[in-house]
Amino acid sequence: MAASSSISLYVHIPFCETKCPYCDFNTYAAIEPLMPAYVSALRAEIALWGRLLDSPHVDTVFFGGGTPSYLPADDIRSVMQTIRDAFTLAPDAEVTLEANPGDFSARKLAAYLDCGINRLSIGVQSFDDSLLRTLGRRHTAADAAHAYRQAADAGFDNISIDLMYGLPYQRIEQWQSTLAKTLEITPPHISMYCLTLEGGTPMEQWVEQGSMPTPDADIAADMYLMAQDEMRRAGYRHYEISNWSMPNMRSRHNLTYWRNMPYLGVGPGAHSYLAQCRFSAIKSPREYTRRMQAVPAAACDSPIRAKIASVPVVNDIERIDTTLEMAETMMLGLRLDDGIDIADFTERFGAPPSQFYADAITELERMELLHTQDDALRLTHRGRMMGNEVFSRFFA
Ligand code: SF4
Repeated sequence: MAASSSISLYVHIPFCETKCPYCDFNTYAAIEPLMPAYVSALRAEIALWGRLLDSPHVDTVFFGGGTPSYLPADDIRSVMQTIRDAFTLAPDAEVTLEANPGDFSARKLAAYLDCGINRLSIGVQSFDDSLLRTLGRRHTAADAAHAYRQAADAGFDNISIDLMYGLPYQRIEQWQSTLAKTLEITPPHISMYCLTLEGGTPMEQWVEQGSMPTPDADIAADMYLMAQDEMRRAGYRHYEISNWSMPNMRSRHNLTYWRNMPYLGVGPGAHSYLAQCRFSAIKSPREYTRRMQAVPAAACDSPIRAKIASVPVVNDIERIDTTLEMAETMMLGLRLDDGIDIADFTERFGAPPSQFYADAITELERMELLHTQDDALRLTHRGRMMGNEVFSRFFA
């Protein structure tokens, strides 16, 4: 990889104080004794990638998990220092840390700011205590509001909050109330996710066994429409299917994913997309930590794919051919309100989308799910509700 190429960096922190019953992320409770060794392993992996990729430029960093705010602030500081040593971190880099509302203290927030964290993503999920209990969250609605104020008072001006809808027991009035409380605090960025009952999670089993009601898909769709209306009225830009922002406050890190641009993920289970290869790291934090104790000499002269394969925690390397890269670029780009910029697509793939997907585009325009406007292909309002129907056409 040329030193001038820019990438985004995802840093996985696999620790949570408790495991929420709906969550299937690669994250674990009760492995806190592993933290110090894990942080050393993570720093070793970051340093190794820095050598292998020749200190690439990094525009965005995202500490996700898991619960990065559960890690001691000094550990976040030391990981940030390793990132600065290993990569060329842009002076205006967006550096986000995911946080649980119960984890903040003034000292912690000051330490984050001091080491370069400039954006927080707070997992609020709901401003309704009964639903927070249903979700098995550790915080209350009051904790969430307090955490937001603490972060803002500490000096964070770029804060995102996550909300969830389509929950078991959730009534439309509860969602309306959560939206109203969200708009009272007016965060610059809001992500809203419909609950997915993931296989193998306790919540999926409760629903399967009938001890918890199945979330109603029609009510969830009404909640989404309500969110669209409320956010628009409040002046937010609905810039991606599940994301709203104030002007110029879009998540730069997530835009990398939606534009199908290169990113490196470090830590167990983290995914990467570099040099037309998609790969992930082994999922077990313990095995990850063990393997990163004996880091091989960096094979700096090897081709990029040999370098990727030489990292001891990497597995599942998948070569992405141009056909798949184009289809994924369509699928991800159409999630954005900007849509697919036809000139950019043409520059990247040598011809406009209409040359590769003529039938699909004609059919989707006829169904009023897609339209061409201002030299970009975009989902219509209806298309946003039926994204999967649209995206599948590009993988035929
Ligand atoms: S805090 Fe987040 S990452 Fe951790 S278990 Fe709950 S939902 Fe999953």
